[in-house]
Amino acid sequence: MATTKVKQPEQTADVHESALNELFIDELKDIYWAEKHLAKALPKMAKAATSEELRTAIQDHLAETENHIIRLENAFDSIGENAVAVKCEAMAGLLKEGDEIVAETEKGSLTRDAGIISAAQKIEHYEIASYGTLKVLAMTLGYNEAADLLDATLQEEKNCDSKLTCIAEAGINQSAKGEKE
Ligand code: FE
Ligand code: FE
Repeated sequence: MATTKVKQPEQTADVHESALNELFIDELKDIYWAEKHLAKALPKMAKAATSEELRTAIQDHLAETENHIIRLENAFDSIGENAVAVKCEAMAGLLKEGDEIVAETEKGSLTRDAGIISAAQKIEHYEIASYGTLKVLAMTLGYNEAADLLDATLQEEKNCDSKLTCIAEAGINQSAKGEKE
């Protein structure tokens, strides 16, 4: 049997000089950009919402998002890194999709709310995936304080996602069903 030779990366004794450490910091910079830009976009999304319930949920999550930004700054600080934002193409794309949904749905309609919820949940799922990974990487690298901060945000993102599901299923989707194109 032919053996293929795979070059093994060099090992480092100090985990904080590892390639994984660099990956962790890069991902932290990505979500930092994502949260900052989300905080700018949420007021617009809240304003576009039809139902008071959805508007309030988005405004509540804006307050949480502002706290997510602070937690990330604290996480950077806890590992002795400067808080730097590097463009997150995924969040930029998700926010663009959200804008398109608002542009394509009628003002004052519940179909618009169903669309905003769809866009918002895609954003939350991106954040859940990011924070889940970041938390585990922080634990692996021995960054316990950062891991706790990331986990606190992760729980809030999950709660927000569940709340959006409840709002959609409690009536918006059913009412939107009767709206004409
Ligand atoms: Fe967040
Ligand atoms: Fe969020």
